[in-house]
Amino acid sequence: MHNNHIRIPFLDLKEINRPFEAEFDKAFQNVIASGRYIGGEEVNLLEQEIAQLCKTQYAVGVSNGLDALRLILRGYIELGKLNPGDKVIVPANTYIASMLAVTDAGLRLIPVDVDNATMNISTEFISEDDLATAKAIMPVHLYGRMAWDAKLKALVEQNNLLVIEDVAQALGAKSNIKGLFESYSAGGLGHAAGLSFYPTKNIGALGDGGMVTTNDPDLAYVVRALANYGSDCRYHNIYIGYNCRLDALQAAFLRIKLRQIERINGTRRENAKIYAANIQNPLITTPQIPEYSESHVWHQYVIRTNGTRDKLRAYLNDNGIETDVHYPTPPLHQPCYSNLKCEHNFANTDSMAGSIISLPISEALSQHDIKLVSQIINGYKE
Ligand SMILES: *Cc1c(COP(=O)(O)O)cnc(C)c1O
Repeated sequence: MHNNHIRIPFLDLKEINRPFEAEFDKAFQNVIASGRYIGGEEVNLLEQEIAQLCKTQYAVGVSNGLDALRLILRGYIELGKLNPGDKVIVPANTYIASMLAVTDAGLRLIPVDVDNATMNISTEFISEDDLATAKAIMPVHLYGRMAWDAKLKALVEQNNLLVIEDVAQALGAKSNIKGLFESYSAGGLGHAAGLSFYPTKNIGALGDGGMVTTNDPDLAYVVRALANYGSDCRYHNIYIGYNCRLDALQAAFLRIKLRQIERINGTRRENAKIYAANIQNPLITTPQIPEYSESHVWHQYVIRTNGTRDKLRAYLNDNGIETDVHYPTPPLHQPCYSNLKCEHNFANTDSMAGSIISLPISEALSQHDIKLVSQIINGYKE
């Protein structure tokens, strides 16, 4: 099968942002007229809206997702809740930013393997030794799937771990832990969370942006100060800080997109369902759909093949389907971490890296597009 007419892009940001153009134009004019280009009213309002969504008391706008995580960890060090050299449990299957934040703050990584089905952190791979030495844990809601369940909740509580969520891929995800009668929002289930508004994320800016959410007033205070040269008030610096602030323009754009988060995440969820119902090929495993469907916002739709990954990717490309791989090399195997010592094995993470493909799933695609991709996948033979 070879089709020269079909071209399904992996992620067409122009299409994703097109519905917002008229509103963006107005916001742009308003921000110019306001004379306030960093922080200010738009940033304050976005912070309030994100705090409401994540069900936290505080939200602090920052420059990007990596900085959000760095500022949280630095903040805990300033508050004396973490000390340089303390260990943080992080899933081995993640984007490198999760790990960079830990090592940048002078903390040590305890990478752990992920569950084969959820592709996320799992208590199964966290050893007694890890728990005896770790001070914090960073659940990463990778691909948009909430990495949080009753077992993980019990484990962090029993061991008094600080929970720092990496919500870069999962804004708007909610979980409902069976038997606990509680509902959690990504960004509000731990002690603090780092969010990203990088353009490719489900709610993406037209540039960089990020946010820290927390219920801890002390952490919110320190993060805000650290992000603004470590100053608590003008020309008075209490910390050796950074410049990690959020632009008014990005905040204004983000507020417009945030109003449609239910449509955006809902369409992605629909697309995932259509894939699951239509992809039928013995060479391919589709991702598990969680029992509580709202706990997944499908930032990525990651299939696995028991055939040759690169051959399947080439076939899809020849048939007009653009794909991606998240991620071809786990961060631990990157040259920058070649000196990292860890005793764990990462069998699931390593096997995933060689067998996964991310399919197009954005809200800019039609149900017809998703069915077409499924049909083309079903026609694949090795
Ligand atoms: C994108 C991403 C980040 C970093 O966000 P930036 O805004 O690009 O700095 C962190 N963690 C994960 C899992 C991500 O996908």
